[in-house]
Amino acid sequence: MDPRSLVVVGASLAGLRAVEAARKAGFDGRITLVGAEPHLPYDRPPLSKAYLDAASATEIPVFRSEDVLRTELGVTLRLGEPATGLDTGRRQVVVGGEPIPYDALVLATGATARRLPGTDGLRGVHTLRTADDAVAVRRALDAGARTVVIGAGFIGSEVASAARKRGLDVTVVEALPTPLVRAVGEVMGEACAWLHHRNGTVLHCGVQVTGFEGEGRVERVLLSDGGALDADLVVMGAGAVPATGWLEGSGLTLDDGVVCDTTLFTGAPGVYAAGDVARWHNPVFGRSMRLEHWTSAAEQGAVAARNALDPAAARPYGTVPYFWSDWYDSRIQFVGVPQADEIRVADGDAAGEGRCVALYREADRLCGALTVNAPTEIMKYRALITRGASWQEALTFAEARRTARRPTTVPALDR
Ligand code: FAD
Repeated sequence: MDPRSLVVVGASLAGLRAVEAARKAGFDGRITLVGAEPHLPYDRPPLSKAYLDAASATEIPVFRSEDVLRTELGVTLRLGEPATGLDTGRRQVVVGGEPIPYDALVLATGATARRLPGTDGLRGVHTLRTADDAVAVRRALDAGARTVVIGAGFIGSEVASAARKRGLDVTVVEALPTPLVRAVGEVMGEACAWLHHRNGTVLHCGVQVTGFEGEGRVERVLLSDGGALDADLVVMGAGAVPATGWLEGSGLTLDDGVVCDTTLFTGAPGVYAAGDVARWHNPVFGRSMRLEHWTSAAEQGAVAARNALDPAAARPYGTVPYFWSDWYDSRIQFVGVPQADEIRVADGDAAGEGRCVALYREADRLCGALTVNAPTEIMKYRALITRGASWQEALTFAEARRTARRPTTVPALDR
């Protein structure tokens, strides 16, 4: 079948890249972009970084104007209303009770921030996933809020950084003894924790939030160690869950995401998935993964659209995962996978000032690398992982890089 109609559900990064890739591939049929939020597709990483700066502009960082989407890309926009159902037999998506037929479909509904129980309707308590969330958090920071962040993950830590940069009192409460253990391992989780200590953020690890006090608006956060924190703003950084609720009963396999093969194919004719919602088989690591990273969401959006429009020529999508995060004045970057047999600091000092390079070993291979303030290094390790470099090769490479950076000393003249 020559597809004449592409529907993309989820009007964010992966969805937009799907639309753009379809047009770039020469598809001239009808494209409908369905988005639950009323906004044009916008970029999320700045929401917990530059957007929270006191001096930054308050506009939402949209990717493309409405005019470019409608006129140049020829997209029919259905924004402000979620898709509520999918019939893979009839090839229809339901939006606002109305069926929208498709030949090819890209599911790009991303993920939804997890809320703690008992927080619904309590003013001053927010997640940070959407532009509307960011507007509310920024408004509270502008008002000088005493800030409590629940969860020392990447987004929560970025909010803490933004609040400290404004000179506000910030406490981060983390249930685990070390933050980010699952994301970067213990050693580097400790190193990241140091960034908070060094910048004046109070970090409580191994403590849980047990409740909130306040009449309609949060005033205090209660902790499992019996303590309590005064708060005007609480940001929940408790992770996100893939937005698959609307696909229950569709017949697609859902298992912490929409399950796909290496080509992002869901198994239902014409239906592919991309971005934070997709759990796919990553051929580079030979395992199933669901990533919540900007780069893979963008790439998967493009691949899913091309494959959906031409399934006979579908290509696999493989990647060495990459993400970055900005804390205070430090840039943290990670490539690969953190489940390692060994993590070794190959350059710099994990708990020191300045730069640091840590390598992750799985069996006798390099499987991951984390850098702090070493932006020129990280992609070199990504290339090593891509070509299956051995652990020894990676250590030798790191040592050569370290030696090359050492300041050369002028030998003393013989007298
Ligand atoms: P999303 O961006 O989540 O978009 C999904 C869209 O689908 C949403 O607009 C949603 O409303 C919509 N939707 C959901 N359900 C439906 C439905 N039923 N019908 C219609 N529409 C629906 N990554 C990094 O690598 N580095 C960073 O520094 C970084 N910072 C981040 C900071 C923040 C605050 C956040 C939230 C994320 C950050 N990320 C970062 C992650 C990155 O932004 C995501 O991986 C990326 O946005 C995923 O894109 P997506 O299109 O798959 O999903």
